[in-house]
Amino acid sequence: MRAQPKASHFIDGEYVEDAAGTVIESIYPATGEVIARLYAATPAIVEKAIAAAKRAQPEWAAMSPTARGRILKRAAEIMRERNRELSELETLDTGKPIQETIVADPTSGADSFEFFGGIAPAALNGDYIPLGGDFAYTKRVPLGVCVGIGAWNYPQQIACWKGAPALVAGNSMVFKPSENTPLGALKIAEILIEAGLPKGLYNVVQGDRSTGPLLVNHPDVAKVSLTGSVPTGRKVYEAAAAGLRHVTMELGGKSPLIVFDDADLESAIGGAMLGNFYSTGQVCSNGTRVFVQKKIKQSFLARLKERTDAIVIGDPMDEATQLGPMVSTAQRDKVFSYIEKGKSEGARLVTGGGIPNNVSAEGTYIQPTVFADVTDEMTIAREEIFGPVMCVLDFDDEAEVVARANATEFGLSAGVFTADLTRAHRVVDRLEAGTLWINTYNLCPIEIPFGGSKQSGFGRENSAEALKHYTELKTVYVGMGPVEAPY
Ligand code: NAD
Repeated sequence: MRAQPKASHFIDGEYVEDAAGTVIESIYPATGEVIARLYAATPAIVEKAIAAAKRAQPEWAAMSPTARGRILKRAAEIMRERNRELSELETLDTGKPIQETIVADPTSGADSFEFFGGIAPAALNGDYIPLGGDFAYTKRVPLGVCVGIGAWNYPQQIACWKGAPALVAGNSMVFKPSENTPLGALKIAEILIEAGLPKGLYNVVQGDRSTGPLLVNHPDVAKVSLTGSVPTGRKVYEAAAAGLRHVTMELGGKSPLIVFDDADLESAIGGAMLGNFYSTGQVCSNGTRVFVQKKIKQSFLARLKERTDAIVIGDPMDEATQLGPMVSTAQRDKVFSYIEKGKSEGARLVTGGGIPNNVSAEGTYIQPTVFADVTDEMTIAREEIFGPVMCVLDFDDEAEVVARANATEFGLSAGVFTADLTRAHRVVDRLEAGTLWINTYNLCPIEIPFGGSKQSGFGRENSAEALKHYTELKTVYVGMGPVEAPY
């Protein structure tokens, strides 16, 4: 098997196996080939990982932020040196084309280690609060053992986006990747050790929805950060609440992307395509409800179809390929069922909707698909599809489109394309979402906070903001004079 790791889990600085766990087959989605066979963590493996994380954390927390940051920055360098190898592994794990993984996956993980490693010396300072003669100060202290649970669309990036702020703030982590993409996080754990991270601070355990609760319910866990769907978020939040654990929830979306008739058409179409077809549409922040002002509807759709039909679909390892398969057969079937619903509920199929004809029959491919004349009530306009399916809706004016854009339980992201500067800011001000874009879409550099509102979650990843979610404040009041007691 061409991507078989040394063992399923990485605990306390080394690979660990326990063949008593349920078998997890890692499948290359482009061909259906089994590329690795792993075991889900047994309760004994979970205990071992959390015990290692608990033991290692205090000494790590006692180091200076500069010393911790130095190790993370070294890990970023190693990731960049091995970008090709890591990107190929990410492509095997997910089916995403190498053209994407080589620029977006290990590199964004490396950005995260570099950024948090770099800001650590300044970003973990507390405050001095003058109180006349007395004074107080605050300290930003780590939470302890943090659990990270990942989705399958950006396995290496998620492993780093959670690991970097947790570690630099002085915590330890036990990370569970998605059962669909178990491979990348093991490499991140290996690289951190090579960069000098003391053993036990970043552990990886495999498992599925039955393994997650063992981590979330563990009494030694202080925080859980989940990237996943809204239904999973509800379960994890509820379980974490029982132990009053801290949580970050990065959940799903059905984000609006609004194109006004004064927008630069090519840029708006490019933004809409990136926001629906990148990673084969498996991006949480995708702008899957594309509202187009009526005056430009025909020209928008004609050019969108032309550009969509030119997308190169094929072998993900071929650098010319722009669109790969879906992550799994289950996800492919789910997306096809939404395409059927779209047709049966009266949406107009502009292009796509089927299986491309130039790919392996065992691959989980879907053509990039565009529906027009979509209305707000249709299932494809309300539910997260998580595949390359764009819904184009028409609108007349600003007030109407803002109200319709907000009429959803989700609130992850939103975008606006317009040449009118004041309208752009007025509209984003009214849109209910955590991360918004004007005249671009889906760019998430490490410097900016990322996360959702409403049912899409809370807490933020990336930027210095993320450190607040991996630390808590300790306030110290210092009395400088005699205590005045009335008795
Ligand atoms: P999922 O919710 O099925 O699974 C996510 C993770 O949670 C997996 O590792 C899974 O094993 C684990 N899990 C499932 N049930 C659990 C439980 N009861 N307790 C603990 N862990 C449990 O999601 P998915 O299908 O892997 O990913 C797709 C979803 O993730 C989409 O909804 C997408 O929008 C969302 N997503 C969100 C972001 C974001 O940053 N907001 C990023 C990527 C993906």
